[in-house]
Amino acid sequence: MDRLQGAGVYYGGTATEAISCRDEDVYIIGGANSAGQAAMFFSQYAKRVVMLVRGDSLAATMSQYLIEQIQTAHNIHIEYRTRVVEVHGENRLESVSITCDLTGDIIRVPANSLFVFIGAEPRTAWLDGTVERNERGFILTGPDLLKSGKRPIGWMLERDPSLLETSIPGVFAVGDVRYGSVKRVASGVGEGSVAIQFVHQYLSNVS
Ligand SMILES: Cc1cc2nc3c(=O)[nH]c(=O)nc-3n(C[C@H](O)[C@H](O)[C@H](O)COP(=O)(O)OP(=O)(O)OC[C@H]3O[C@@H](n4cnc5c(N)ncnc54)[C@H](O)[C@@H]3O)c2cc1C
Repeated sequence: MDRLQGAGVYYGGTATEAISCRDEDVYIIGGANSAGQAAMFFSQYAKRVVMLVRGDSLAATMSQYLIEQIQTAHNIHIEYRTRVVEVHGENRLESVSITCDLTGDIIRVPANSLFVFIGAEPRTAWLDGTVERNERGFILTGPDLLKSGKRPIGWMLERDPSLLETSIPGVFAVGDVRYGSVKRVASGVGEGSVAIQFVHQYLSNVS
């Protein structure tokens, strides 16, 4: 996958890729909103969009409005209980091997474009040794920092970390990068405005 990244394997879908896959079959891995939005986008260009979904429905992971749009798109096809197990190609993607979890069968299909939409990387390695993060790199805040009721190591204040506060007093985290956040624009904006109140509170107590 790494070797073919940008040469048929993509982790985002822009107009450039859409034009290059005109009248082709496009494969999308994932069953959540980003995969659904990408499927709708590529369905305007590709001959056929095939969504490869590990689960057996979209209901638990995708917004209903998007499910309804996908159902009405004549060229989007969904393969449930499937996973890509291998990609093939010398200098660019030529085919993908797909397994069906129900039967265990593996089929190899020609493919020039494979788009992966299965979760996000917080990319917070640069924070190493500063604020506490979970094992996937998302920043811990507020109650999530308390382990068995104990405050984070190095926390010197007589109060618990406030709702959006990290393990360093006066440092706040909001939006997608925060562990446990709702991954939506409105939530990120809302958390940001709430954090401002916490900043004022914090500053008013700093002598
Ligand atoms: C395909 C897709 C579709 C989506 N559709 C919807 C939707 O329809 N409705 C909805 O509400 N939400 C949607 N979302 C979710 C929404 O985009 C996010 O919840 C929202 O953008 C989170 O905002 P944020 O500010 O926390 O993070 P981001 O928007 O990711 O902003 C973080 C910013 O920080 C920058 N950055 C990262 N590291 C550094 C660094 N070290 N130094 C400086 N800058 C840095 C990044 O470049 C980025 O600009 C979608 C997400 C995706 C991926």
